[in-house]
Amino acid sequence: SKPIVAVVGRPNVGKSTFFNKVVGRRISIVEDTPGVTRDRIYAEAEWRGIHFALIDTGGIEPDTDDVILSQMRIQAEIAMETSDVILFMVDGKDGLTSSDREVASMLMKTGKDVVLLVNKIDSPKLPDDFYDFYELGLGEPIPISAANMLNFGDVLDVIIEKF
Ligand code: GDP
Ligand code: MG
Repeated sequence: SKPIVAVVGRPNVGKSTFFNKVVGRRISIVEDTPGVTRDRIYAEAEWRGIHFALIDTGGIEPDTDDVILSQMRIQAEIAMETSDVILFMVDGKDGLTSSDREVASMLMKTGKDVVLLVNKIDSPKLPDDFYDFYELGLGEPIPISAANMLNFGDVLDVIIEKF
């Protein structure tokens, strides 16, 4: 069966934007009720003739940091169980957050391949605090702009190398 790649990260970092651009169509994710969802959105993707399944882990409208953290844990747990490669997305405009650190340490314990994507890097100049993301210990952070599909070729190359 096809390799499975999951996108995880806290709400609003751009996971769904990335997912929709990679799969090449807009798959709306409707959440009428704020709250934790265990639903995962799957779609088929292809790069250089290699087919894989991409999972967008669901988002919520959290109102406290605790809810953010519990949602991230659930997302990460689902991703750990089902995926071959985990794409951990963080927000390059926000910079490194304590939530990012917490999820990173959890992801490292899975022993799965994790690719660190720093989203919202919309221009070629990296922000000064970009290098903070190395502290997560997940290897080289890859700057991307999901909105503008910047660096997608590099990301997809890194993903398929891990299959
Ligand atoms: P999710 O909650 O992680 O699924 O995030 P979304 O994909 O829903 O995006 C959250 C917000 O970030 C939306 O307003 C997007 O338009 C915005 N966004 C996503 N990707 C980018 C990007 O590459 N650059 C910028 N500037 N904004 C982005
Ligand atoms: Mg989303």
